[in-house]
Amino acid sequence: MSAFPAFPSSCAPSDIVPRLRAAGCVFAEDEAELIISTARTSADVEDMVERRVAGLPLEHVLGWAELCDLRFAVDPGVFVPRRRTEFLVGQAAALAPPRAVVLDLCCGSGAVGAAVGRAPSVASVELHATDIDPAAVRCARRNVGTVGGHVYEGDLDAPLPATLRGRVDILVAIVPYVPSGEVGLLPREARIHESRVALDGGGDGLDILRRVAEAAPRWLTPGGHLLVETSERQAPSAADIVAAHGLSPRVARSEEMEATVVIGRRDGRLG
Ligand code: GLN
Repeated sequence: MSAFPAFPSSCAPSDIVPRLRAAGCVFAEDEAELIISTARTSADVEDMVERRVAGLPLEHVLGWAELCDLRFAVDPGVFVPRRRTEFLVGQAAALAPPRAVVLDLCCGSGAVGAAVGRAPSVASVELHATDIDPAAVRCARRNVGTVGGHVYEGDLDAPLPATLRGRVDILVAIVPYVPSGEVGLLPREARIHESRVALDGGGDGLDILRRVAEAAPRWLTPGGHLLVETSERQAPSAADIVAAHGLSPRVARSEEMEATVVIGRRDGRLG
């Protein structure tokens, strides 16, 4: 018996797979299966295949991405959560108290904060998320809504309510960290279909991270943690930046997931 739902024969995987493969999709069989199981009608299937063949990222075509075995909505133009970010989510969940106040800056789709909030070890979460891009904010409202959180539109911490100051246990930020001069080297899907503001981290790729590190002590509770993703190459400089703002830094790295996370702890002392 076929694993695929019954659609007219023009929607059969045998028709779709060669088209996807010819367009350069390496995992054409898997993609065909995902498209068929996500589409509601055969016209949907055709439309999705056309968009994928035209070069849109698979997640934008499907309208969702997976992170930590959870599905999150991803709208056109919005940064697609990367699988490597599951490492940061795991680190954040391990540091979160059971009743956690979580802040997600540069939240994009909102998947990262929501995944931390939905981690099995986090019993309840108060989640706040911000992004400067209105399309990301719209998308994040759907994902952050799954844990009853709040999404604010604005530049980093600017839109946050003052009542959150000094209360955040976990501050996560998938800042844009690609050096400006290297944005042109990114895969086409990222360069063309994700907003530049989600990717371009300035000259050395650490400009936004500097601003997040500067803001973090205002929002973190004593003993709270900042977690930011970087490249392996950037990690030593990023750790220095975090330390310069009074947080105790360490670098966590997963070779398997090719993921690097700089973690800064706000000291237990008040003040
Ligand atoms: N090089 C990273 C990627 O495309 C960029 C991620 C980012 O800047 N947030 O996965």
